[in-house]
Amino acid sequence: LVYGWAGTILHIDLTKEKVSKKSSAEYTSRFLGARGTCAMLMYEESKPGQNAYDPETPIIVGAGALAGTGAPCSSRTEITTRYPGQESQGIASQAFGGCWAPELKFAGYDNLIITGKAKKPTYVYIENDEVKFKDATGIWGKGVFETNTLIKEELEDPDVKILCIGPAGERLVRCATIEHEYRGGTPLGAVMGSKKLKAVVVRGTKGVKVRDPDKVIKLATEHIEKLRIQHPKVDINNAHGPTAIKLHFEMNDLGVVGYYEGHEWRDLDKTSGEPFLRKYGYKIRGCYACPIACTGIMRVPNIGTSVMRCYPFWWVWMLWLTDMEKAFEAVKICSDYGLDHRELAHATAWLMRLYNDGIVTVKDTDGILMERGSGDALIQLIHKVANREGFGNILAEGTLKFARTLSPKAESYLVHRHGVPGRTLDYRVDYGKTLGEAVTTRAGTHRNPGGDGEVWGKGMKPGALDAAYANAKNKYGTEKAVIPWEYEGKAKLLVEEEHRRSIYDGLGVCMSGAVARYTRDGALEFWASMFSAATGLNVDEKRFSLFGEKIINLERACQAREGWTRNDDTMPEKFFTDPVPNGPRKGYLIDRNKFEKMKSEYYEIRGWDVESGNPTKETLERLSLKDIAYSLEKLGRLPKTQRRE
Ligand code: SF4
Repeated sequence: LVYGWAGTILHIDLTKEKVSKKSSAEYTSRFLGARGTCAMLMYEESKPGQNAYDPETPIIVGAGALAGTGAPCSSRTEITTRYPGQESQGIASQAFGGCWAPELKFAGYDNLIITGKAKKPTYVYIENDEVKFKDATGIWGKGVFETNTLIKEELEDPDVKILCIGPAGERLVRCATIEHEYRGGTPLGAVMGSKKLKAVVVRGTKGVKVRDPDKVIKLATEHIEKLRIQHPKVDINNAHGPTAIKLHFEMNDLGVVGYYEGHEWRDLDKTSGEPFLRKYGYKIRGCYACPIACTGIMRVPNIGTSVMRCYPFWWVWMLWLTDMEKAFEAVKICSDYGLDHRELAHATAWLMRLYNDGIVTVKDTDGILMERGSGDALIQLIHKVANREGFGNILAEGTLKFARTLSPKAESYLVHRHGVPGRTLDYRVDYGKTLGEAVTTRAGTHRNPGGDGEVWGKGMKPGALDAAYANAKNKYGTEKAVIPWEYEGKAKLLVEEEHRRSIYDGLGVCMSGAVARYTRDGALEFWASMFSAATGLNVDEKRFSLFGEKIINLERACQAREGWTRNDDTMPEKFFTDPVPNGPRKGYLIDRNKFEKMKSEYYEIRGWDVESGNPTKETLERLSLKDIAYSLEKLGRLPKTQRRE
C-alpha cells in the first residue's frame, strides 16, 4: 500500500490520443516528488538538443510528496519542460500554489507526462481513472478568465481544477505563461500552445492515504499555530506585493532602471501599495491547506476583478509608473492573455530607456510613445505582443531577438543572460543572489535561491545582527557569509539553501508557509517528521538533505547533457563593467575574479569538476545516480578531469 504519494504516473500522448500508466514508486523513493521526479522524467523522456516546440518534447507536471495529505501549505504544482529559445539550459520549470496538485493526487496521480501534438485544439480532462481528450476549438482564442468559466460550464462542475494557456500561449509568444487561478510564473505557455493543448483539467475524489493520520494532524496543528504567531497577520492591506517591495527597497537591490540609474526611490507614497489595497481590496485567497492566505484579489471600477500580483509594485523602478490603477489594468490584461508580467515589464523598461535616450523612436514602436511612466504605453505593448501585431510580432520572439533588429546600441542596453532577462534584482549589490543566479540549474525562473540566509541589518532587534554574525562564523567559517556585499562563505551558504529549497519543492510545500520566520534550522527537521508521518518512511534531517543534493545534481546533469559548462554559469556583462551610478550602493559591481573564486568554491563543495563545473562520476555514484553517470559518460559529457582536492 502506498502512503503519502498516489503511486501512479500518467502518460498522455496527444498525437495518438492514448494514455498509459506506470508506478511512480521508483521515482518518488529516489527524488521525493514534484521537482525531483519531474527532473528525472525530463531526463528520461527528452532527448539532448531537443527544441521546446518539438512535438516529442515532454511537459512533465508533478505534485509533491505531501500534496493532498493535509500538511500545511502543500499546494505547489511543478511543471518542467524546455524553455523556449534556451534549450541549452536543459530544464525549465514553473511552480505555483493553488489547488491543482492536490487535486491531481486525489485523482490518483503523482505526475503527468504529456507528449505529442494534438491534431486540433484540445483540452485533457482527467476525472479519476478516466481521461478524455476534449475538443477545445470553441475555447481556442479565448482569454484565461473566460476559458476557466467555459470549461467549468461544459463539464458542469465548478470544482474542476484547471491549468490553461491564453491567446499568447496559443500564438507561441515566448513569454506566455501557463495559468492556474491567477498564478503563473516562468513562461512555458508556448510549449503547451505548440502542442495545441489549451488546458489540463483535473477532478479527483479518491483522497490521499497517509501512514499516521493522527501524527499528520498533530504536526499540522503545531505548525499552523507557529505560523499564526510568527507570520504577520495577512489581510487585504498587506497581501503579498507591497510588503515584498518595501523589503527590497530597504535592501536597495532593485534592478532594471537601477541597472542604469541607481537606486533612488521614486514616489514611494503613491506606489507603496497599501492605499490601493485598502481602496480596492475585495478578498483574500489562499492555496490548498494554507493558513496564511496571502493573495489579494482586487475589484477596481471600470477595470474589473483580478489579483494584484507583486510585480506592479516593482514597476515604479522599472517604468516609473505610479498610476496603480493603470498598473492593475496591465496585470489583469496580462493574466487574461497568459503573459509573464516580469519579462514584459523588463522589455518595456528597456524600450522606455531607449526612447528616452533617442535610440528608438515611434517609428520602431508602431507609433507608441514609449515615455517613462506611461501606463498606456505598457498596455499597448502588451496587446501588440500578445496579438503578434507589428513590432510586437518580433518582440514576441524574445527581447534579445527584437534588440538585434534595432541596433547594436539598443542591444547593448539590454540586461540578460543567455537571452533571458534577469529577475528585477540588481545583482551588483548582493553576491549571495549573484552566485545563486549564475549557477542555477533551471532556466528562466525567478525563484532561484541565493541570499536567503543573508542579513541586511535593517529592522532587526537589538543584538540580532551580532547573533547572526556569530552563527555564520560558527556554521560557515566566516561572518561574511551572511553579509550581502561580501564574497566569502557564500558558496557554502548557497549549497545549504539549494538543498533546503529543492526539498520543499520535492515535498510540494510553499516556501512562505514551510518556513516559519526565523526558524529555518528547525524547519527541515519538522518537515522530515511530517514526511515520515505521511509516507511511513523514516528519514532524519541528514538523509532528507541528501534528497536535496540529489535533485540539484540531477538537474545539473540535464544541463551537462546539453553541453552546459562553467562558462555558461555567468551574469550579464554589464554587472561586471558598469558600477551602480548613484544611491546608497554607488560604485558597487561584481568583481570578476572574486565571482570566479566563489564559483570554484561552490563546485568544490558540490564535488563537481572545477574546470567544467559539472558533476563527476564519483559524485553521481555517491548519490546513487549511477544511471545518470553512465548516460553522461556514453554521451561524452562526464567531466574528463577529476575534482581538485
Ligand atoms: S503563503 Fe501564499 S503562496 Fe504560500 S501557500 Fe499560502 S497562500 Fe499560497
